[in-house]
Amino acid sequence: MRFVYPYGKRKALTFSYDDGQIYDRRLAGLFRSAGMKGTFHLNSGHLGPSGENDIFVGSSELAQVYEGQEIACHGVQHRNPTTLTRQQLLLEIQEDRKMLEQLTGGLVQGMSYAFGNYDRDIIEIIRTLGIKYSRTVQSTGDFFPPADFLEWHPTCHHSDRLAELGERFLNIADYYELPVMYVWGHSYEFGQSGDWSVIEDFVDKMAGKEDIWYATNLEICNYILAVRAQEFSADGLTAHNPAAVSVWVETRAELLEIKPGETKYIGER
Ligand SMILES: [Zn+2]
Repeated sequence: MRFVYPYGKRKALTFSYDDGQIYDRRLAGLFRSAGMKGTFHLNSGHLGPSGENDIFVGSSELAQVYEGQEIACHGVQHRNPTTLTRQQLLLEIQEDRKMLEQLTGGLVQGMSYAFGNYDRDIIEIIRTLGIKYSRTVQSTGDFFPPADFLEWHPTCHHSDRLAELGERFLNIADYYELPVMYVWGHSYEFGQSGDWSVIEDFVDKMAGKEDIWYATNLEICNYILAVRAQEFSADGLTAHNPAAVSVWVETRAELLEIKPGETKYIGER
């Protein structure tokens, strides 16, 4: 047997875009209209009042711009984590969480490292602050979920073999368990050049696939953490799901949902 994504989907696709510039409006709209989900990492100290000449998305339009997408931290002022004292880092992240949560009314538990910079100390500090995952800028060119979500290396930047990796992902080898294609970038890279073709072509190619789960960074993180939290009987044939979300198991004969708190036989019948 093996774990699969919700409703038996074999793989997950997600996006991670930083800095909250106004071009996010078009990018979030593109994802939404294709039934896809991305995560937008915002600097709460940069959010504009949504005036005509603003560089950044306005705080009053967050709900509308990012509808159906995830909002996550990137630091209040986009300061480099590795140059801050521990106290400064704590404020940079904790205050970002607080402000974004006040503006959106939900929990903000995701992050990406400003400038892609982090170290062991920083990981432990943000873990303490209730951050569940944080994205780096080191591309793997692959689809394995991370060992530690606070060091979540993306598959690729959108300028780096996106079409080729997308093709590989569509025809992914069967041995991958819970593969995820994780694309990152900044919407201003499209907005400033006016050339959106790389991301539009990719979204076109990847949209509407039966076997892909289109999810936010946090949804994928929560799902994989739930799978990793499963408990098994000594013979491995009964599973208990202590997590807050259902997990899905594919056996040779059937697809099984193990609901939160449920104990279920998962052997062959
Ligand atoms: Zn940034």
